[in-house]
Amino acid sequence: MAALNLSKMSQEEVIQAVIDHGGAGITKCIQCNACASVCPVAKAGFSLYGRLLFRKLQTGHYEEIIEDASSWACQACNRCTEICPRDARPFDIVFAFRRMQAEELAISTSAFTPLMSLHATGHAVTSEASKKLRQQVGLDSQPATSIEDEQAQKEIQTLLENGPMGELGIF
Ligand code: SF4
Ligand code: SF4
Repeated sequence: MAALNLSKMSQEEVIQAVIDHGGAGITKCIQCNACASVCPVAKAGFSLYGRLLFRKLQTGHYEEIIEDASSWACQACNRCTEICPRDARPFDIVFAFRRMQAEELAISTSAFTPLMSLHATGHAVTSEASKKLRQQVGLDSQPATSIEDEQAQKEIQTLLENGPMGELGIF
């Protein structure tokens, strides 16, 4: 898909781009913000989620939000999809926005770190807090991963290296 021409996109073109990237429900959203009330992104203190994000997209203010990292905190839990009274599938809209951001290389470092860890160790979660929690309940600091199976790890690395992130040269 060709890169978007941010500075020249009209309101209609931004909405169409969201639809083309998988967020067809953008035209159904009525700004009720029910999705934000259950969204972990909101609870974690990020700035752009629910009605705030969808309003920016509906009104064509895409260029000013493209660098915002909030969308990368989406947990794909789909609580928003369940609660939306308009069946707008807000999760799909968030991911459409993320795809648009990725095309412009506006990718949060929070998206890179787990993939780099997956490539190196076979496990995407790297936080010291999670290691400590595991040790507190008598487990090894890291769960068993594909790193223990050379063939499996090689296959994971091949997949990652040949995907869109691999093209960015992060591995
Ligand atoms: S996506 Fe649905 S729940 Fe969220 S603001 Fe729009 S209409 Fe409301
Ligand atoms: S899927 Fe993403 S946007 Fe929807 S409630 Fe979960 S974290 Fe929030």
